[in-house]
Amino acid sequence: METNFDYIVVGCGFAGSVMARKLAEEGDKKVLIIDKRSHLGGNAYDFVDEAGVLIHKYGPHIFHTNNENVYKYLSNFTKWYDYSHEVVGSIGGNYIPIPFNLNSLKLTYEEDKAERLKEKLLKVYGLDKKVSILELQNQQDEELIELGKYIYENVFLYYTMKQWGQSPNEIDKSVIARVPVHISYDNRYFQDKFQGVPRDGYTKVFENLLNHPNITVKLKLDAGDILKFTENQVYVDNKVFNGGVIYTGAIDELMKCKYGRLPYRTLDFKFETHNIDYYQPRGTVNYTVDEPYTRITEFKYLSGQKISGTTTIVKEYSRQYTGAEGETPYYAILNEENRNKYDEYCKDLKKVKNVYLLGRLAEYKYYNMDQIVAHALELADKILNN
Ligand code: FAD
Ligand code: UDP
Repeated sequence: METNFDYIVVGCGFAGSVMARKLAEEGDKKVLIIDKRSHLGGNAYDFVDEAGVLIHKYGPHIFHTNNENVYKYLSNFTKWYDYSHEVVGSIGGNYIPIPFNLNSLKLTYEEDKAERLKEKLLKVYGLDKKVSILELQNQQDEELIELGKYIYENVFLYYTMKQWGQSPNEIDKSVIARVPVHISYDNRYFQDKFQGVPRDGYTKVFENLLNHPNITVKLKLDAGDILKFTENQVYVDNKVFNGGVIYTGAIDELMKCKYGRLPYRTLDFKFETHNIDYYQPRGTVNYTVDEPYTRITEFKYLSGQKISGTTTIVKEYSRQYTGAEGETPYYAILNEENRNKYDEYCKDLKKVKNVYLLGRLAEYKYYNMDQIVAHALELADKILNN
């Protein structure tokens, strides 16, 4: 293989693709970007299925950010479909807005009680405040304690057990805080200033990002097949490589799991096409008290496609990642032990010059797409200004 590239980027997701574009365009660097999958886009990859519905192969992706730089940068590569995601929980035959909010309160309790609870919440927290369920459980007032218990049991407990195999009290607090109790009448899942999905789909964004004369893309190529590391040197096809490597895959897999596997949760996706206009009332329904899957997403809501008589949905089933062929590590399991193991891997790699770790897997973090893009923009600037 030709090795006269300035940079080799591993992974064609948001981390790798934004990085490759910045290095190629602003640094005039020759970049090779590879992915072991047969397509661009990483976990944001989408395509049109046999029913004509634009579906997300690795689960529903809604772009949302308060970071204007990120939004502006990506807007160079796409126009946006202005979509505000709404989620409801299927609880006792009702559809309740999630995050649990003042509308959810009304749907859960009879009028007087809902009004009383609302007044108490407004008094303690104020309008538009977001409160973690863990915090809400620490109230003094009897009725608020009961409300906290109700929401914990009906919104968080079973869903979290399915998603993580652990209770909300056992997992990292930052994970539960992603979905607060919202003292508000706003039914949107995210309150960010910019939200939507790429108008022509995510895959098109990646095609546009990587369409540059300085970028060479190679798919179905595993980094392990071309890259080797010794103590302080990178080799490509067994030849010394003095360029830079940006790695966006799982760090333990890069190092042949020498300190043991970093634990992840993986998902099984079950897609179904139904011959009806719409399957459910909102983009996503969370199954917080029953069913073995965590949630069902109906893609037509996300894309805004107007197709009558057919619709595609996906059910998500979560389980432990084992590293078996065909499994994907989706969610890092955040705790001290796992962070320590991650740091061990990092220490080893730090000795190798010009190797950078970037992205949800390589950094072993629970990042949204916009956070990944922000990191890629920062790291590229840092490398180019060095
Ligand atoms: P990835 O997209 O995982 O890309 C990494 C790429 O590296 C992959 O294509 C992989 O094949 C490749 N790779 C790995 N190892 C190797 C190797 N050895 N050789 C070659 N290639 C390799 N974020 C949001 O902002 N909004 C959402 O609504 C949202 N929904 C999500 C839903 C689900 C079910 C999941 C799992 C995540 C969701 N996210 C969402 C998060 C989002 O997917 C990530 O933030 C984003 O994909 C991370 O980009 P990345 O480039 O770091 O990683
Ligand atoms: N969660 C929950 N019930 C819900 C929604 C979320 O218990 O109805 C918890 C669950 O532990 C989940 C976490 O909050 O993993 C974060 O939810 P989010 O929707 O951000 O997860 P993602 O979309 O990243 O899978």
